[in-house]
Amino acid sequence: MSGRSVQERLRPALVSFEPYDPAFSPCEVNLSANENTHPLPESVNRALCEAMTSTPLNRYPDPLANALRDELAAWHGVGRSNVMVGNGGDELIFNLLFCFGGQGRSLVVCPPCFEEYKNFAKMCETDVVEVWRREDDYSIDDDALVEAARTAALIMITSPNNPTGDLVDPALVRRLLDETDALVLLDEAYVEFAPEGASLASWLAENPRLMLLRTLSKAFALAGLRCGYLLADPAIIDVLAAIRQIYSEDVVAQAAALAAVSMRDELRPVVASIVAERERLSVALSELPEVEQWPSSANFLLVRVPGAANVRARLRDEFSVLVRDFSYAPGLADCLRITVGTPTENDRLLEALRAILK
Ligand SMILES: *Cc1c(COP(=O)(O)O)cnc(C)c1O
Repeated sequence: MSGRSVQERLRPALVSFEPYDPAFSPCEVNLSANENTHPLPESVNRALCEAMTSTPLNRYPDPLANALRDELAAWHGVGRSNVMVGNGGDELIFNLLFCFGGQGRSLVVCPPCFEEYKNFAKMCETDVVEVWRREDDYSIDDDALVEAARTAALIMITSPNNPTGDLVDPALVRRLLDETDALVLLDEAYVEFAPEGASLASWLAENPRLMLLRTLSKAFALAGLRCGYLLADPAIIDVLAAIRQIYSEDVVAQAAALAAVSMRDELRPVVASIVAERERLSVALSELPEVEQWPSSANFLLVRVPGAANVRARLRDEFSVLVRDFSYAPGLADCLRITVGTPTENDRLLEALRAILK
């Protein structure tokens, strides 16, 4: 390329970005990305296959995925106008920042949390204000958050939080809605694994600045399909509808997502068994020497072990078990995030940890 380099031509806000690397290495047991590894009921598998294979590929998708929106709306007791579908929750997070962020506006987050909020905010030239969680129990300093959020355009809170596993206190969400003027995104990507009633979906009707993000990547075991959705006030949904990549949700994803959501009751036992395995894994981990852990309402556990990066490498190289290393991340020294797998996968992990930590 003659003249200026590509880096010099690049929009300044984008110069420091690098391709996302999930640090994935092929392992027999992959517990690194919070995917659902449990087998689905045969009836659901059949319905997914049927939906995907009977979908013509020569026609463009319905841009707004209205059939899927209607099913999601019926599930959550809202209207179609309260639902926006996206190519994974990630697309919706990006589009929210694209719409409501920008120069001179700020996003408030509570790290350690999902890192995409900050990445997308930077891409959209939005200032990021970080209100760090307390170091011991990862709880949020409510007063500090409300104070920081007073002048914010957006607040993004994860509940249950990734990677710490805790649910946000509804009283804090109440305060954010009452005491600030910001749009409040509650990211409920893992809420299906939390106790009944943990979602704040019932608040939507009375709180037009509250938005809920959900995804089919976790409880629905469809991470590869790319489908997430936002529940929010129709005025917000309208804006998102206007700026979206018109065909980002393809016909196969729409058809399979519709089948899966329609069969949501049949997936309940799968979620219940993941929750039961989480509890079993947690008890077993508590019996290992030098393992610290935090209570989780999601499909993963955050643990702290001495020499975590080395433990993770040995799990991978000697036992073919992959977990996620967070030990490099601020606030997460020596922390690993372990996705709850099947009973067999969890046993493999426990056996390996017993051997490594003995
Ligand atoms: C997995 C996840 C999402 C959404 O992921 P998609 O696969 O893009 O739907 C959103 N937020 C958090 C915190 C997550 O962990």
